[in-house]
Amino acid sequence: MTTLNATLADAGWILADGATGTNYFKQGLETGYPPELWNVERPEDVAALHTAFIDAGSQLVLTNSFGGTHHRLRLHDAQDRVGELNLAAARLARQAADAGRDRNGRPVLVAGSIGPTGELFAPMGALDYDDARAAFTKQAEALAEGGADLLWVETMSSLEEVQAAIDAAASTGLEVAACMTFDTAARSMMGVTPADFARQAAGFGAACVGANCGIGPAELLHSVREMVPMVGTPVIAKGNCGIPEYVDGGIHYHGTPELMAEYACFARDAGISIIGGCCGTTPDHVAAMASALRSTPTRTFDNEAALAALGMPWKDVPMPGERRPEGGAGRRGRGRRRGRD
Ligand SMILES: [Zn+2]
Repeated sequence: MTTLNATLADAGWILADGATGTNYFKQGLETGYPPELWNVERPEDVAALHTAFIDAGSQLVLTNSFGGTHHRLRLHDAQDRVGELNLAAARLARQAADAGRDRNGRPVLVAGSIGPTGELFAPMGALDYDDARAAFTKQAEALAEGGADLLWVETMSSLEEVQAAIDAAASTGLEVAACMTFDTAARSMMGVTPADFARQAAGFGAACVGANCGIGPAELLHSVREMVPMVGTPVIAKGNCGIPEYVDGGIHYHGTPELMAEYACFARDAGISIIGGCCGTTPDHVAAMASALRSTPTRTFDNEAALAALGMPWKDVPMPGERRPEGGAGRRGRGRRRGRD
């Protein structure tokens, strides 16, 4: 089995993949339909997206299992299929990764995606640690059995849920990566700062920590830069492809491949080891990121240059206590949709 650290030791950085959900929409996924069912209903489409990312240069792909907990699948009356759907997700990614390695001569890591349950912890909601851990354990065990190299806890907003997911994932014996989403005035929806998350997640045993999803590349980079000095682990940046905006009733991402290529190089300059994209990031974006990372030497991080290229982080997101003129900021509320990348 290829480990994260062996791959990192080899190159110093790893290019991950892009979005799952937003690319499936292009392949015909209907809004509200659980992508995890595609692992058994349309496995060729799931495999095709993995393959497209691998051939674009991804050395790490996430399984199609983000919503694969009992709690999320229950919304679709598929709560009894946790084992089956997660096993299928891991097997599809494993096959695509192994075929990609044979084709391109580059190992590809399979990271078993574990997203939030969607439930709130007590006292705000009904979820408690034992319930969450049991749900994540069932998912993690199926992903491990299907051939995942590591487990990838992502899009989290509460530390309690992060701990339950890391504990569950670590019980399989695999390495665990953990990412939180920072989309609310530089904090997670539950008020956690990137620095606190990084310290705590590393303390819970995560082998690497980072941020995914949220607003745009500028905000993502701002969040992960706060983590780097806090931990001795590799740090992950998996940012959305630009700022999500509602256009004609749908979510659109306007980030170009060039923008994501700039973001990737600045992230590496800032000390980030695992770099990828989240919502809106297509194989074309990943190909541009791969090419830029290969052709650009790692530089000393230049914040002014990063701001010029990516924009000012949180510029359009009100900070706590801050008032914006009515109808002024324009982007207020954007970037809050998540749960599917
Ligand atoms: Zn996302």
